[in-house]
Amino acid sequence: MAVREVVIFPDERLRDPVTDVTVFDDTLKQLAADMLDTMYADDGIGLAGPQVGVSKRIVVIDIPDDEGNQHKNPYVLINPRVTAHSEEQVESEEGCLSVPGCTAKILRYASCTVEYQDLEGKPQKFENVGGLLGICLQHETDHLSGKLFIDYLSRLKREMLKKKYLKYKKNHQKED
Ligand SMILES: [Zn+2]
Repeated sequence: MAVREVVIFPDERLRDPVTDVTVFDDTLKQLAADMLDTMYADDGIGLAGPQVGVSKRIVVIDIPDDEGNQHKNPYVLINPRVTAHSEEQVESEEGCLSVPGCTAKILRYASCTVEYQDLEGKPQKFENVGGLLGICLQHETDHLSGKLFIDYLSRLKREMLKKKYLKYKKNHQKED
């Protein structure tokens, strides 16, 4: 188990195309375990391959319970794809471990269906999932298309957020 370095915006690796996972072996299990460690270390609820510099179709998610506790229900999704979604959309506040210090209100589908494989390669499905898990699934699968939550914002909003972000990054580096 190991905490890996998180790739930070505007690193181009976040935009790289990813490939499907075809080999379900111990290396894959190790990667998934490392990704969960990395996500927990940064207090995240989801993490995608490109965020640890791995251009593979893999996502880990752990939604906290009502008391805010994690480590209860971690999901590892191999080759996940959104295969259906609701017409209805909802807006909620999102952040991303690759864009530290920034949050923004983003419009997402109220619910979605995601098909994926587990670590053994067995087909699995989340059907019509809404709430925080549904939003997280859309956010993380976006990473596999090289897309970040800030891409949904208008140019003006994105520029404002970028300024805030660069300021955060500068201050953060000073502390180191
Ligand atoms: Zn993210």
